[in-house]
Amino acid sequence: MTTSPFAYAPAPESVRPVLKPSYGLFIGGKFVEAKSGKRFASINPATEQPVAEVADAGAEDVARAVAAARKAFPKWSKTKPAERAKLLFRIARRIQERSRELAVLESMDGGKPIKESRDDDLPLVVQHFFHHAGWCDKLTYAFAGASPRPIGVCGQIIPWNFPLMMAAWKLAPALACGNTCVLKPAETTPMTALVLAEILAECGLPEGVVNIVTGGPDAGRAITALAGKGVDKVAFTGSTDVGKAIAKAVAGTGAKLTLELGGKSPNIVFADAALDQAVEGVVSGIWFNQGHVCCAGSRLFVEESIHDDFIARLERRMKQLRVGDPLDKNTDVGAINSKAQLDTIRRYLKAGADEGATKLEIACDLPKKGFWCRPTIFTGVQPSHTVAREEIFGPVLAVMTFRTPEEAVQRANNTTYGLSAGVWTEKAARALEMSNRLTAGVVWLNTFNRFDASAPFGGYRESGFGREGGCQGLSAYVSIGGGR
Ligand code: NAD
Repeated sequence: MTTSPFAYAPAPESVRPVLKPSYGLFIGGKFVEAKSGKRFASINPATEQPVAEVADAGAEDVARAVAAARKAFPKWSKTKPAERAKLLFRIARRIQERSRELAVLESMDGGKPIKESRDDDLPLVVQHFFHHAGWCDKLTYAFAGASPRPIGVCGQIIPWNFPLMMAAWKLAPALACGNTCVLKPAETTPMTALVLAEILAECGLPEGVVNIVTGGPDAGRAITALAGKGVDKVAFTGSTDVGKAIAKAVAGTGAKLTLELGGKSPNIVFADAALDQAVEGVVSGIWFNQGHVCCAGSRLFVEESIHDDFIARLERRMKQLRVGDPLDKNTDVGAINSKAQLDTIRRYLKAGADEGATKLEIACDLPKKGFWCRPTIFTGVQPSHTVAREEIFGPVLAVMTFRTPEEAVQRANNTTYGLSAGVWTEKAARALEMSNRLTAGVVWLNTFNRFDASAPFGGYRESGFGREGGCQGLSAYVSIGGGR
C-alpha cells in the first residue's frame, strides 16, 4: 500500500457489530422517530458502505428537543453540584469502559486512523468529562464573588473532524454548570454521538438534560432559529462561513453565542531548532487526522538558511507515512471524511499547481473504493497563493520561508484567522518573544497539536470567539451578575 521501507503486515482492528442498523432522535431521554419522516445513511468513507441509518430532524423535531431541554432545566439547574459531578464522573467511566468500541466506530464513521481515535480522541473525551466533573461544585471559586448561574438551554452544533471529542467539549462544561442541551452532530459523523446518548441514559442522566438531533444544515438552522425563543445559548464549532451566518441569525435575539471556527495556522521553524523533532511536529501538525484539524499547522515557515535541508528531511519522513485502511493499527493517514471534502481538497491541489507552487506527494497506491488523498507538500508558495491563504482542511502543507524573526511574525500573522501557531527554536527568549507576538489563541513551543481539558482552546479574528476547556471555558456556560 505504501512506499515505506518498512514492510508492515496488515494489523486490522477487530470489528464486532455494536450498532443497530437504524437510529432515531434522542429526545427526552429516549430514542424517538423523527416527525419529519426523513432518514439518511451515514457512510464509511473508507468503503463507501453505509454504517447505519439515522433520522433527519426537521424544525418540528428540533422544537421538540428544545422543549424537552426546557422542561428538564428547572430541576437540573437546581440539582446539587455534587450530584451533577457524580453523573459526569459516571459518564466518563462508562465512556472509558466502552472506549474501544467508540474508537472503532469513530474510525468507521469518519475515516480517521484507529490509532488516533484510540489514543487521542477517546482519552481526550474521557478527560473532558472527568475534568468538568471536578468543576461542578467549584464554580463559586472559578468565578469568585460573582454568583455564577446556569444560562438555560444550550443549542450546540458540531463538525465532523473530531465528532465525539467535539460533543464532549460542548456537553461536559454545559452540564457541569447546570445547563441542559440540544446537540446536533455533523451529518457525515452522527454515530458516536448516538452511542453517547445510550451511555447518558444508561448512566442515569435525567431525561431531557441532553437531547441529540441528527441532521444536516437545516437541522442546525432550526436550532439557531430558536435562539432567544427557547434556546438561551448557541455554541457552534465549524467553518467560518457558517459561523458568520450563525452570528447573523443569533444577533439581537438575546441568546449568548460562542464560535469556534476555522484556521490557517503557522508552524515556524528556526535554524537553531532540533530539526528532526521539528519534522515530527510538522508531520503531526498537518497530517494528523488527514489534516482535518481546525488548528492544523497548514502554513510552514522555514528559516531560509535551512530550507532545503529541512524539506529533504520532511519529504523523507512523509514517504514513510502509511496511507490506507483506518481500521489498520499501522495506518498513519486514513480516509478523507466525505466525497464533498475530497472534491474541495482536489480543487486546492489544482489551484496550488496552477498558481506555480511545486507539488511533492508520496507515491503510494490508494484503495480502489473510498475517499483518499495522498499527503502533499507545496514548496515555493507565495503569501498571495490560494493554498497559503485559505483553509484546505486536508493533508496539504504550504511551505514558505523567512529570514528574520520579525519577518516570521509578520508573515505568520498575515492571515484572517488566529487559532493556533507553533514555534520551533532552542532559544527560550526567542520562543517567548514569538509567542507574545503571534496572533493566535494557542501557541505551541517545540510541539504541536497538544490538548488538555484544563487548557483553554479558541481563536481570534475569523477563528471565532470564546474558549473551550479550563475554567476559562466555563464562562461560556454561566450567567454572572444581573444579566444573562
Ligand atoms: P460546517 O460549518 O460546514 O458544519 C458544521 C456544523 O454546522 C455541521 O453540523 C453542519 O450540519 C452545521 N451547519 C451547516 N450549515 C449550517 C447553518 N447555516 N446553520 C446552522 N448549522 C449549520 O463545518 P464542517 O465542514 O463540518 O467542519 C469543518 C470546519 O470546522 C473547519 O473550518 C474547521 O476549521 C472547523 N473546526 C473548528 C474547530 C475549533 O475549535 N475552532 C474545531 C473543529 C473544526
